[in-house]
Amino acid sequence: TKQSGRNGYTFFTPAMQASAARRLRLLQDLRRALARDELILHYQPKFPGSGQPVIGAEALLRWQHPELGLLGPDTFIPIAERSGLILPIGDWVLDRACAQLRAWHDAGHTSWSMAVNLSPLQFTSPSLVDTVRDALQRHALDPGHLTLEVTETTAMKNVEASLQLLNTLTAMGVKIAIDDFGTGYSSLLYLKRMPASELKIDRAFVRDLENNAEDAAIVSSIVALGRSLQLQVVAEGVETEAQRDFLDQLGCDLLQGYHLGKPMDPEAFLRQAT
Ligand code: C2E
Ligand code: CA
Ligand code: CA
Ligand code: CA
Repeated sequence: TKQSGRNGYTFFTPAMQASAARRLRLLQDLRRALARDELILHYQPKFPGSGQPVIGAEALLRWQHPELGLLGPDTFIPIAERSGLILPIGDWVLDRACAQLRAWHDAGHTSWSMAVNLSPLQFTSPSLVDTVRDALQRHALDPGHLTLEVTETTAMKNVEASLQLLNTLTAMGVKIAIDDFGTGYSSLLYLKRMPASELKIDRAFVRDLENNAEDAAIVSSIVALGRSLQLQVVAEGVETEAQRDFLDQLGCDLLQGYHLGKPMDPEAFLRQAT
C-alpha cells in the first residue's frame, strides 16, 4: 500500500515496486510526463556551516503524477534509466535548474551555485558535454556556478573514460562532486587524479554519527582525506543539531540535510534562504 514518506511524497513497498505491471504503467506514463509538464524540481539548500548563509542548492527531481501523487526519484529514475528516458529527462533537469539559477542571480543572489545529479547513462552519453555547454550559454551562466554530481560508483566504473569526461567538463569551468562517497570502492590513486572539487559523504555515515564510533571515524577520515586532496567535503542527511555540531567541529566544509533545510519548491527556497 501507499505511504507518505518523510520527503512528503509517495513511495511503494518492495512488493509493489517489483510488480512488472506497475513498472510498465509507470514507464508508459513517464513517456508523457515531460510533454505534460508533470516533472518538477525541488531545491535543497547547501550551507557552509551553521549560522552562515546559503551558498546554493541541489536540484532534486519529483514527478507530480496525475493519479499517484507526488513521486520521489527512487520510484521512477530506475525506470527512466533502463528505458533511456533519463536522457531527455536529464536534459530537461539541466535546463530547468540553470533557468532557476539565472532567476536567482537576476534577483540579486549572484553568488549562489546549482548542483545537478547525473545518472550513469547520462554520464556515458556522448552529448553530455554539448548539453551542459548549451544550457550554460542559454541561461548566460558562469560555468563555475554549476556543479555536476556523479556517484562514486559511476565515476569509478570506467575510470579512464570518466577521467577524460571529467577533465573536459572541468576545462569548461564546471565543478564536479563525487556523490554518495564511501559507498563505492574508490581507489585513492584514481581519486587523486579525479578533477573533482567536492566529496559528498553518504547519508549512511551521518545517520548514527553521534552514537557510532566507527561512523564517526569514517566521517573524520573522509574530512581529512578531502583536506589533503584539496576537495571540499559535504555531509548530506544532517538531521539533528548534534550531527551538525559534530560535523562543524570536524571541519566539514558544507552541510546539507533536513535539519538545515529540506528540498523545497523555488518560492519556499527563496523565503527560507533570505
Ligand atoms: P542524492 O543525490 O544522494 O540526494 C540526496 C537525497 O537525500 C534526496 O532524496 C534528498 O531529498 C534526501 N535528503 C536530503 N536531506 C536529507 C536528510 O536530512 N534526511 C534524509 N533521510 N534524507 C535527506 P531524493 O530527492 O528522494 O533523491 C533520491 C536520489 O535520486 C538522489 O540521491 C539522486 O541520486 C537521485 N536524483 C534526484 N534528482 C535527480 C535528477 O535530477 N537526476 C538524476 N539522474 N538523479 C536524481
Ligand atoms: Ca546528489
Ligand atoms: Ca548523495
Ligand atoms: Ca543517494
